[in-house]
Amino acid sequence: MYEGAIQDLIDELGRLPGVGPKSAQRIAFHILAADPADVTRLASVLNRVKDQVRFCTICFNVAESEQCRICRDPRRSGEYLCVVEEPKDVVAIERTGEFRGRYHVLGGAINPLEGIGPDHLRVRELMSRLGSGEVKELILATDPNTEGEATATYIALLVKPMGIAVTRLASGLPVGGDLEYADEITLGRAFEGRRAV
Ligand SMILES: [Zn+2]
Repeated sequence: MYEGAIQDLIDELGRLPGVGPKSAQRIAFHILAADPADVTRLASVLNRVKDQVRFCTICFNVAESEQCRICRDPRRSGEYLCVVEEPKDVVAIERTGEFRGRYHVLGGAINPLEGIGPDHLRVRELMSRLGSGEVKELILATDPNTEGEATATYIALLVKPMGIAVTRLASGLPVGGDLEYADEITLGRAFEGRRAV
């Protein structure tokens, strides 16, 4: 529709999740009209995110060094381990202020239709962390949808024979939804009211 770089930008933006053709066009023209310093900052952060951000070697949360901020924090309890699908879920739970334990980020959920099985997730790494014997309660905070439930059930079956308490977040979370979209109060209550599985 347009010529050259502006159309390339619209095409690239349009490939991002949740950005339709109209939004892509609006963002592209916003960038075109923006202050050059703002655009330079955006471009540099786009480059930095691929260069500098890596995954924590313990929990697989995003990190800027070998270990993430949460794994490095000695005040966090190693007795409670919360299993989530993605780093954004760590952020959502941290916002509630209800949890002072540690996390394990699976990197997705079991989804047979898309060919994602337990081997594609960091389940093996989870099992080896649990092998240390420090964890007393494993909290399954995968999304309250079909894939999240299947993943929670799968992990619960693996872990329960190890004598570790396994809990799941309480109901009240929007069924079929994404953990990250739950408001802090709902998610905080779901955390407090977690139940054994
Ligand atoms: Zn970590």
